[in-house]
Amino acid sequence: MNLDLKQYSTMHIGGLAYRILNIRSEADIISAINYADTCQKPLIVIGEGSNSIFSDEDDKFVIAHMQMKGISVKEDTAEYQIIRIAAGESWDHCVAYTVAKGLSGIESLSGIPGTAGAAPIQNIGAYGTEFSDVLVTVSAYDRIHKRFRTLKASECNLGYRDSIFKQNPNTYIITELTIRLSKSIPPIPEYASIKDQFEGQIINSALIRDVVLRTRAEKLPDYKTVPNCGSFFKNPLVTSDQFESIQKSHPNIPSFTTQSGIIKLYAGWLIEHASYKLCETENILFYEKNKLVLTNIGNASYDELLLVLSNIQKSVHELFGIQLEVEPNIFK
Ligand code: FAD
Ligand code: NAP
Repeated sequence: MNLDLKQYSTMHIGGLAYRILNIRSEADIISAINYADTCQKPLIVIGEGSNSIFSDEDDKFVIAHMQMKGISVKEDTAEYQIIRIAAGESWDHCVAYTVAKGLSGIESLSGIPGTAGAAPIQNIGAYGTEFSDVLVTVSAYDRIHKRFRTLKASECNLGYRDSIFKQNPNTYIITELTIRLSKSIPPIPEYASIKDQFEGQIINSALIRDVVLRTRAEKLPDYKTVPNCGSFFKNPLVTSDQFESIQKSHPNIPSFTTQSGIIKLYAGWLIEHASYKLCETENILFYEKNKLVLTNIGNASYDELLLVLSNIQKSVHELFGIQLEVEPNIFK
């Protein structure tokens, strides 16, 4: 079996895994845990590796490659359907499946790479929709209490690119999700980058999916040809006092006020104004259309990437006094 972790991360960085185990059933999960415990190696569950960076030291990890499959309708009413999705399904395949049924709720999350099982980990989001908007339950193996259990959405602490699963890494192995999707016409996403494309059109989830896929193809690199892991930093959230103080020295700084009154800054704008070019290396460049996306254009090492990330954080901190938080999951 190919143990090269470069092939299991869309950033194409990583050493050789100690072992890679395919997970196709609940029984495979128990076997993988027992195997990793016997070898005294950390067990890391992955989907498509589109938000994961691995150390390039060899033999560090046992990898559980999630491949549990299946999508079905669990409940069907006049207003909504509850869809059951196994963790190893491709997320975008699930979006396509539900949009083809005329359902709405996740069409704005079209084109996000990765598996369904990873969607709750960072509460995936795009164009104003978050996975938390539709989640009903997450089923998972709880490695602390050594049992399979089902968590209600309210127990998952889903926040901006955050969840109970992200807060407690290596604790839960997600096996299945249920999501609730509407049979009503969806609202137009209120994002300037796509809003205009809906003018004069009949709105439905298929149209929103088409517009989102087209826009993403224009603005983001295809990880199959240009290795990347999407956005490398979260948008920082600041209080109004912090914002006013930054605004004194940077009056043009763009911001978005969230429903709870917290102010979201645009990390891409902060990077663009903070000597970002000096942070690039021979192998790691910013994607020219998006300063949140770093691309591995050569054969970048793990240390090289970490250096780039820390230099970006330093230059943004020096200019704005803001500590950017790295978004992808880093396995040292
Ligand atoms: P992986 O990278 O394999 O895993 C991510 C994390 O989840 C790891 O910590 C892993 O251990 C854990 N994990 C994975 N599966 C399981 C499981 N079954 N049980 C327990 N833990 C698990 N994200 C967004 O939110 N919005 C976007 O618009 C977006 N756009 C992107 C665009 C590009 C070009 C790329 C490359 C990435 C983008 N991402 C985006 C990030 C990424 O696609 C998502 O975070 C996605 O959910 C990751 O899925 P994956 O299966 O590849 O996860
Ligand atoms: P965009 O639509 O050009 O927007 C740029 C930035 O402004 C984003 O950070 C977005 O915040 C923010 N923004 C724009 N309109 C907003 C509004 N009405 N309300 C609140 N915030 C607003 O972004 P893009 O780079 O082309 O990406 C499109 C969408 O896909 C974004 O939602 C982005 O988050 C998502 N995406 C995520 C990743 C990832 O890896 N996490 C990668 C690519 C794209 P938000 O980021 O909070 O939406």
